[in-house]
Amino acid sequence: MKIMVFMLFALALMQAPRITYGEDFGYDGNTGPTFWSERYRECAGKHQSPININVLHVKQVTLPDITFIGFDDSIDNVHVTNNGHTVLIEVRNEPHPRVRGGPLEGDYVFSQMHFHWGDNDTFGSEDKINHRSFPMELHMVFFKEEYKSVSEAVKHQDGLTVLAFFYEVNVLLFENRLLFIYVPLGLP
Ligand SMILES: [Zn+2]
Repeated sequence: MKIMVFMLFALALMQAPRITYGEDFGYDGNTGPTFWSERYRECAGKHQSPININVLHVKQVTLPDITFIGFDDSIDNVHVTNNGHTVLIEVRNEPHPRVRGGPLEGDYVFSQMHFHWGDNDTFGSEDKINHRSFPMELHMVFFKEEYKSVSEAVKHQDGLTVLAFFYEVNVLLFENRLLFIYVPLGLP
């Protein structure tokens, strides 16, 4: 089974400011998603996260494979930040890893990745499938090469792409100890 990947183009328009400043949004109450657009105008778009994918309403399409380029190269310039909401991982190597193919037109350059998780292992993903939350969700954020930077890319409808990976918790027995590990959804 393939790892479940979904691509959130317009969603990406609101990712950058939230991740950069990362203190004043939440998922409940008066800092919840309904209010994000008041502080971040990028969040006022029509296709706004968090999203719920209803599999009964998903349209099946055939697309070329997504090609990952440069992800096997060694990296020596990595910045890991706790921004108060998540672990933010930025790679500043040149050349940057990138993706192309799938529904993408052109190359998208890797900018950063971060995680969404909850207070316990029953929920935490930002997005859902059939209203089901997952314990963790990885977002890999890319900007379109022609825009040169995330700050420029957020001004364009096709500026950013996010690859999202849902994780589940697996229990392993290792040297007589139970290990709880996060594994990407779809992996055996
Ligand atoms: Zn995210």
